[in-house]
Amino acid sequence: MSVTINDNYLLLQDNYLFVDVARKLENFQNENPDKNVIKMGIGDVTKPLPKTVVEAFKKAVDEMGEANSFRGYGPEQGYSFLAESIIKNDFKPRDVNINTDEVFISDGAKCDTGNIQEIFGLNNKICVSDPVYPVYVDTNLMAGRGGSITENGTYSSITYMSCTEKNNFIPELPKKSVDLIYLCLPNNPTGTTLNKDQLTKFVEFAKKNNSIILFDAAYESFIREDDVPHSIYEIDGAKEVAIEFRSFSKTAGFTGTRCAYTIVPKELYGLSSDGKKVSLNKLWNRRQTTKFNGVSYPVQKAAEATYSPKGKKEIQENIDYYMENAKIIRKGLSDLCLNVYGGVNSPYIWVKTPKNMKSWDFFDLLLNEANIVGTPGSGFGLSGEGYLRLTAFNTLENTKEAMDRMSKIKL
Ligand SMILES: *Cc1c(COP(=O)(O)O)cnc(C)c1O
Repeated sequence: MSVTINDNYLLLQDNYLFVDVARKLENFQNENPDKNVIKMGIGDVTKPLPKTVVEAFKKAVDEMGEANSFRGYGPEQGYSFLAESIIKNDFKPRDVNINTDEVFISDGAKCDTGNIQEIFGLNNKICVSDPVYPVYVDTNLMAGRGGSITENGTYSSITYMSCTEKNNFIPELPKKSVDLIYLCLPNNPTGTTLNKDQLTKFVEFAKKNNSIILFDAAYESFIREDDVPHSIYEIDGAKEVAIEFRSFSKTAGFTGTRCAYTIVPKELYGLSSDGKKVSLNKLWNRRQTTKFNGVSYPVQKAAEATYSPKGKKEIQENIDYYMENAKIIRKGLSDLCLNVYGGVNSPYIWVKTPKNMKSWDFFDLLLNEANIVGTPGSGFGLSGEGYLRLTAFNTLENTKEAMDRMSKIKL
């Protein structure tokens, strides 16, 4: 034996959350084959790709099959036709100026939010909200920024911003100095978000402390309230302190098609170990051109079609459909006198368990009494204990049926 492994991987905890949910569901179905279980734990879109998107996708595939329109490797950063559409549609209308060379098109926000830490030094202190999308924590653990695991399952070098009913899910600014702050807004899993003033505080904090905010806006298109920023760059000066991640996955049903993008402003700098200022845009460009060969041409054409007038309309109809479900869930749960969060600017609804039940006990109750599957909040972090996540991605009929069933159980 001579090959050693990256020991950092041993710090990772197996995430049994969805495995345990699936196992409990299977057991229940085996014992109750006649029961129709409604799955409200779905973290994936369910509506098919919009017609306009499929047409553009197919047309581009045909181009690839003709000698005169065939394309080989494209630019690693993505085609300019898509970068220009992104700027024109996602940023210009909000008075945000982005250059095409600040847009990096990729095959997913999961990879980008996971890979971005590579361009930062290992001594940087990480800060995340709790509950959290596990990618941010696990990728930093793999790199060696986690420290050691503590008794309660958190990591000694990571700063956690607890988000609960107590602070109305508004993360408190870190008291320690931190370097990289991950924010996911609207949030997965809680479905809550920050308004402009609240987000401004984070931008000001980052400026004052020379931190960088890694802003995951994967659920941007679900925002309904006027006061909620769609991009962190709507906040003055944010281009000096923030990288933003966007994805076509939840917006346009691209979870299986794969297209996303990351904005790395040219105003952003980090320090080298000998104290020199180095452009983060240059580093990310170097990282991507070395390790990534771009998103396929047909997929980028499909993504471009999401910005056509017809594409936009079709996408909006799908989002409206999910948000109608979210409204029904919010109302159904509120009528039962449960404390309900999220679901206004997000497809996720975060419900406080009744009588301070544990997340898993409430999960069991819903499964056994109402034949509904949710996701226990405790699976997303310590502060998720006592909550359950429901999603708006099921059908309207099932969503209504689920709320009807819940109204009949004793909580
Ligand atoms: C779904 C999701 C994404 C999108 O990931 P893709 O790789 O683009 O599909 C990013 N961040 C969060 C928090 C998500 O829930």
